[in-house]
Parts: sequence; C-alpha cells; structure tokens
Amino acid sequence: MSRKFATRLLHEAFPPDRATGATTAPLYQTTAFARETAEDMANIFVGRKPGFVYTRVGNPTLSSLEQRVASLEGGLGAMSFASGMAAVSMSILNILGAGDELVASGSLFGGTSSLFRELASYGVVVRYAENNQPEAFAACLTERTKLIYTETIGNPKLDVADIGAISEVAHAHGLPLFVDSTVTTPYLVRPLSLGADVVIHSTSKAINGNGNSVGGIVVAGKFLWDGKKFPKLGEFAAFGPMAYLARLGGRMRADFGSAMSPFNAYLTGIGLDTLALRMERASENAMALANFCKEKDSVTVNYPGLPEHPDHALAKRQFDDRYGIMLTLRLGNRERAFRFINGLSLALNASNIGDARTLVIHPASTIYLHSDEAEKERAGITEDMVRVSVGIEDQEDLLEDFGKALAQA
Ligand code: PLP
Repeated sequence: MSRKFATRLLHEAFPPDRATGATTAPLYQTTAFARETAEDMANIFVGRKPGFVYTRVGNPTLSSLEQRVASLEGGLGAMSFASGMAAVSMSILNILGAGDELVASGSLFGGTSSLFRELASYGVVVRYAENNQPEAFAACLTERTKLIYTETIGNPKLDVADIGAISEVAHAHGLPLFVDSTVTTPYLVRPLSLGADVVIHSTSKAINGNGNSVGGIVVAGKFLWDGKKFPKLGEFAAFGPMAYLARLGGRMRADFGSAMSPFNAYLTGIGLDTLALRMERASENAMALANFCKEKDSVTVNYPGLPEHPDHALAKRQFDDRYGIMLTLRLGNRERAFRFINGLSLALNASNIGDARTLVIHPASTIYLHSDEAEKERAGITEDMVRVSVGIEDQEDLLEDFGKALAQA
C-alpha cells in the first residue's frame, strides 16, 4: 500500500545520518570539506567520486532538504537556493539567453513580475497570457519561446492554473512548463504528476512555516531537453534527463553564488516536518474566515474554496477539495483597507505568506508599489485589497479579530 502524505513527509528520503545515526538532518555549518589526499579532492572535483568540497557548490544539509522535497514532489532531483527569487531566476536563466522568449501567466507574485521586467535588459522577452486559459498561453508562443511559466494559484489574484491543460499546450510545442507552487506546496498539489516539468518553491513560506529563514528550491521532472532547442544544456547532455539539474547546480548555483545557507536549510527541514498539519489546519481556518467575512457588510471575499470563485471547480478537482491558506478581501477603498489592517490585533501586518501566524498586507502600497497600471491589472491588484495568509491560530480567536477589525473599519 502506498504511504500517505504526512507519513512520506516524515520518513521518505530521510535516512538517519550515516555518520552518527542522528534522527534529524544534522546541520553541517561549514564552508569547506577537507579531504585526506590530493587525489581524493581531484576525483570529487571532476565528478569521478561523490562528495562535498565547498558549500556554495553543495552541502549535506542542503542535500537532505533537496532529497526530501524532490521525493514529495515526485521529481528527479532538486536544487536549493538562497531565496525563492533566486530559485525563480536561476531556474529560468538555466535555459534562457538573449533573444529567447518566455510566456507567462499575468497574475504573478510582484517579485517575479519585477524580475521579468528586468529580463528585458538581458535581451529576454516576456509575453503575458491574457488570462489563465490554455489558449491564452498558446496565443503568445513564437519560434523563440523556450518555456511557459505560471503559478499554481496566482499570488494574490488567486486564479487557479489548469496545470494539465497548460502542460499539453507546452508539450505540443516541445516546451517545458515551469510552475511556482509556493502557495500550494506539495500538500495541495504535485504539479509534476499533472504534467509540469519544473516546480519552484519559495521555501520561506509554508514549507518552512515558522517564518525564520528565506530560501527557495527548484524540482525537476523528466522533461527530455532537446540540445538544439536548449543549447545551454548541450554541455550537460551526458547527464541525460538530469542535464537541467546538473547545469542548475554546476553553473547557476555555483557560478552565480546563489546557494542557500546550511543553517536556513536546517531550519527549513525542521519546519517541513509539520507541513501537513499546518496546511490542514490553516486551510480549515481560511475556509472558515472566508465564509465568516463574506457575511459582513461591504466586503468582497476572494477564495478558491468559495463556490462563487470562478476557478472553484478546477481548484476542487486539482487540489482534491482543499483550497489553501490565502484569501483576499476588498473593502471598497484604500482608507477602509488601511483602517481594517490597523484594527487587527492578532493578525500581523507583514510582507510574507505561509507563516504559522496569520499575516495581512495591503499589496498595492507595498509589494506592487513599483508596478505600472498594466502589471497591477494583470495581477488583480486593487487599492481596496487586503491579502490574508491564514495561520494555525484557534479559529474562534481569528474570527473574533477579523470581526472586530471589520466592524470598526
Ligand atoms: N514566488 C511566490 C509565489 C512568492 O509568494 C514569493 C514570495 O513572496 C516568491 C516566489 C519569492 O520568494 P522569496 O521571498 O523567498 O524570495
């Protein structure tokens, strides 16, 4: 019988430390790894022998986290990075060069949109699909397109991507589908099993869950990288389906110097242990909060778990009747949104999601401060919107906090 998610989370790809038998992944807080002989060092450097030499290139604490996340996602392997943004940028630049194009969903996290704007200065063109429908992605493809990029649930628009249908569009053109699954985590969906080829997480969010370390991870599936279409991977062709990961580690992480710190990987691994419990509890709280707020005057609630959400049926099917931890509220205008945030006493006003504590933020005046109107419209940002990342507090206390803040807003 195949094991269920929480059991896999705690046991899969998680052997006791070979050196000592320690039952949790030890922290190897070291910069370098000494070797007995020059021959040994040379063999590891050239890849003839497995082993670690320098933490920017690899470290056992990072490997432990990578193996666990790769296993949960059903991937060939994973590579950790210093932040979610490092994971996003390294994952795409691993195959993109000047003259290449990428086609993206319009409703992206603000940091990702900002990075995509920056790509123009590197000669990379980003085309945005008009909406999250597969045909809208297909309409943007050209001879130069190298990948399609989307988020599972757009942060904070909360539109849901049909991963299977969009991957069919990508594969029909020999392209990989990259999916940022930060908002969903492997608890809600394993995008590789639905047809995605590369999965990205900001581990700073729910994978860690304790809000104590920034990090990111990229998981690769079995996409067959055609050396002609993806010339950067040519040098790594001997690695077969692992070519993408081999270059991601060897070139992107080592050369750009974007490695996660071992201490952050250690903390993230501890947080990961409780992912299933936290996601279950926070999703229940989010559903309760969405239903509670929708009964209040002059508030519009956006949550994929509500039957009136435009992507509710897709979310129900794709995420197995679970809808995640994020919702947004529209309060009519910016002033009321600010009064609401200021009136909350439990929920923290903070620029983060996926924390054990409930967090709120006004995206228009913060994360999307430097976005132009077109970008904000694509991402569904309005002046009256408050984003809520629901935590694992006792439900009654959360409802009371939101009820009071709404009443005085
Ligand atoms: N992707 C999504 C969907 C996010 O929400 C975030 C951060 O909020 C990121 C990527 C970037 O992650 P980080 O802050 O770890 O760089």
